[in-house]
Amino acid sequence: MAHIINGKEIAEKFYEQIKVRVGEVRRQGVEPCIALINAGDDPASALYIAKKEKLAAYLGITSIVYKLDNDVSENYLSELINSLNNNNKVHAILLQSPLPKHLQFRKIVDIIDPNKDVDGLTTTNQGKLLTGEPAIFPCTPLGILHMLDTVHQNIAGLHAVVIGRSTIVGRPLAQLLLNANCSVTSLHSYSRDLPAICKTADILISAIGKPLFVGREFVKSGATVIDVGINRIEKDGIKKTVGDVKFDDVKELAAAISPVPNGVGPMTVAYLMSNTLSLAFRCC
Ligand code: NDP
Repeated sequence: MAHIINGKEIAEKFYEQIKVRVGEVRRQGVEPCIALINAGDDPASALYIAKKEKLAAYLGITSIVYKLDNDVSENYLSELINSLNNNNKVHAILLQSPLPKHLQFRKIVDIIDPNKDVDGLTTTNQGKLLTGEPAIFPCTPLGILHMLDTVHQNIAGLHAVVIGRSTIVGRPLAQLLLNANCSVTSLHSYSRDLPAICKTADILISAIGKPLFVGREFVKSGATVIDVGINRIEKDGIKKTVGDVKFDDVKELAAAISPVPNGVGPMTVAYLMSNTLSLAFRCC
């Protein structure tokens, strides 16, 4: 039976370190502040923004939410981001995805000043991740690395397989694992024979958004399995949230596994706050 990597508990411990850093920044006369931009009417986004706002308040970080209509123009959004870039009271800017369909995420995110890009999604910060320069890196992959640290003394040399290659999770995660000296395999929707490749993984991470896709046939005995997926399903008339992994089957085989909920999700929000502080420290 696997060890459960409880992201909620790990995040709660991490909050204590974040609170110390909040105190340090405030003593320097800086009030850490994050702007949360939520454009459109995606119900999951509204929920995530509310969680971020709540955690910021708990940790002593100021958050300002910009709720924009579904038909917000590119021009309006660009001007808002530019005004936040120029506002020295705002240290961090988050553009919640998905954006309404008429807006191009890449084009809009690149308007964010890389020095305020709290989720490390601008082309500049993603490039720095590739070249190994210090920068702000995406929150979900940082949270996953932290979770791995709780079960592995050293991940160097381990074979990590990442399913999914989005710029927000899969790609930066694969790069961070490579920077940590793992041997990394990146899989996606064109990959063939996923179970056979995944079965060679010491660390298997699924970030595809397909409910209960990863079963026992994907998992090597003794592997560490991290489930990033957040999927809403309906079973017997009841709606519930599940990951990409068949948790009950896989936990019998894996050495360690993260659940959904209370896995990667809380770590992502914690790292949003940690990155906000890293950006605020630059103003001290
Ligand atoms: P995207 O839709 O942007 O990317 C999904 C990736 O999965 C793509 O690279 C796609 O391949 C790949 N993929 C899809 N289907 C398959 C398949 N059958 N076999 C192999 N690869 C496949 O999603 P995100 O990266 O934004 O998010 C992934 C999941 O993680 C979602 O459930 C999301 O809700 C969750 N998430 C959770 C977070 C958390 O904090 N817990 C944070 C962010 C996301 P291709 O590139 O070829 O299309």
